Amino acid sequence: MTSEWLYWSGAFISAAISACLLGLALFADRSRGRMRCRKCWFSMKNASSFRCPECGHTAKHIRQFHKTRRHWGWALASFLPLLLGAFLAVQPKVHADGWMSIVPTTVVIIMLRIDDREQVIDEIKIRITGVVEHQYGSFSYPTEDRLWRWQWRMLGRSVLKRLQDQHDPSTRRRFHFWLAFCSDYGESQRLRSDITEKLSLEFAHENKDIRTSATIYWIDYDDLDASIARAAELLDHETAHVRIAAIQSLAMMASDSEQVVAPLVELLTHKDPKTRFRALEAIAIAARFHQHMPDAYDAIMNLEYDEHDDVRHLRVEALARLRSGDTLWEGIESALHSPDPVIRAAGLRSAIVRSVRPPEINFLMIEALDDEDDSVRLTASQAIRQVGGNILIDHIEVLRSYRDHPDENVRDAVRFILGRLILDE
Ligand SMILES: [Zn+2]
Repeated sequence: MTSEWLYWSGAFISAAISACLLGLALFADRSRGRMRCRKCWFSMKNASSFRCPECGHTAKHIRQFHKTRRHWGWALASFLPLLLGAFLAVQPKVHADGWMSIVPTTVVIIMLRIDDREQVIDEIKIRITGVVEHQYGSFSYPTEDRLWRWQWRMLGRSVLKRLQDQHDPSTRRRFHFWLAFCSDYGESQRLRSDITEKLSLEFAHENKDIRTSATIYWIDYDDLDASIARAAELLDHETAHVRIAAIQSLAMMASDSEQVVAPLVELLTHKDPKTRFRALEAIAIAARFHQHMPDAYDAIMNLEYDEHDDVRHLRVEALARLRSGDTLWEGIESALHSPDPVIRAAGLRSAIVRSVRPPEINFLMIEALDDEDDSVRLTASQAIRQVGGNILIDHIEVLRSYRDHPDENVRDAVRFILGRLILDE
C-alpha cells in the first residue's frame, strides 16, 4: 500500500515536471517587444530592412519579427519525465500481475504470431476468459464480450498461423478450442471456412487426442447441415484416421440431427472392419435420440454374419435401441439363443442394461451361467450380480446347483449373490 502511494506520487510529480517543461519550451520565449529574425533569432532592432544581416532570411511582414520562439529540443526532452511517470504508474500493476498484464490485448494477440511461449498463451487465456452463469453453476470460458469482433478475427488468424508448429498436444487442443470461439465470435465467413479447413487437416494427425478435439471443435452448430455435409465428404477418405474422425464428428451431431444417419448407413458395408464398427457405434448413438430409422435398421440387420466380432456384438444393442416393447425382447431372446457366442454375450449385455425384463429373459440370463462358451459365462457372471434379489429367489434352486460350477467366475458370482440373498432375509 505504502509503495503504491510512492509510485503514484512519483508518477504525478514526473508528469507535472513534464507538463512544465513542455509549457516553458513552447511558450516561454515570447517576443515581448523584441524584434527577432524568425529563422536565426538574431536581433533585428537595428536592421534597416526586412532582410536579416545574420542569415539573409527576408521577412514578408513585420509581424514575423514578433514570433514566439519554440524550443523543440526541450519540448522533446519534456517527454522523458513523462515516460518515467508512466513507468512508475504501471509498477503497482506490474508487481501484482506481471509485465504482461500492462501489454494491450491486441499486442498480445500479435505477439502470439511470433512467440507462442506459455506466457503469451496464458495471457491470452486470461484476456478471453469470462464467467458465464448457468443453472448448474458458473463456468469460465471464452466469452464474446472479452474482445472486439475484429480482435476475435485477429486471434483466429494468429492461432491458425501457429497451429501447425505447435507440438505440445494440450496446447494444440487449446488452440482448437479457441478457434471454435474465434469462428463464432469473429462473424467472418472466410475465417470460419479457413478454420474448418485447418481443423479437418487435424483429422489425420497421429495423436488420437488431437484428432478427437478437432472433430469436436470443427462442428458449426449454427449450420449443422453444412457440418454434416462436410463430415460426410470425408467418410470415403483413404486414411482410416480421417474416416473415423469424420464418423466421430457425425456421432457428436447425432443428438441434434437425424441427417447424420444416412451417410453412416452407407459405411456399414465398408471393407475396413474398424470403419464398419465405428459407423455402427455412431448409428447406435443416434438411435438413442431418433428411434425410427428404417434404412439403418435394415442395414444393421444385414450385419448378422459380419466377420468382425465387435460388429456382431454391437449390432445386437443397436437393434435393441431401434426396437421397443415386445419386438425388443423378442430380439434379445433370439440373441440369447443364437448359435454365435458373440451374439449370446451381446444379448446378455442388452438385457442387463434394461432394468425391467420379462421373466423368461431373467431365466435365460441365469441359464447362461452354464453356457458352453467361456466368454458368455463370464458375461453372465458379471450380469447376474446386477439382477435384483426377488428375481433370483424365484430361481434359487438353479443358482444353488451352480455353486460348485467348474468355472471359477460362475462359482464366485453365484456364491456372491447367494450370500447377499441370505443377508437380505
Ligand atoms: Zn536570421
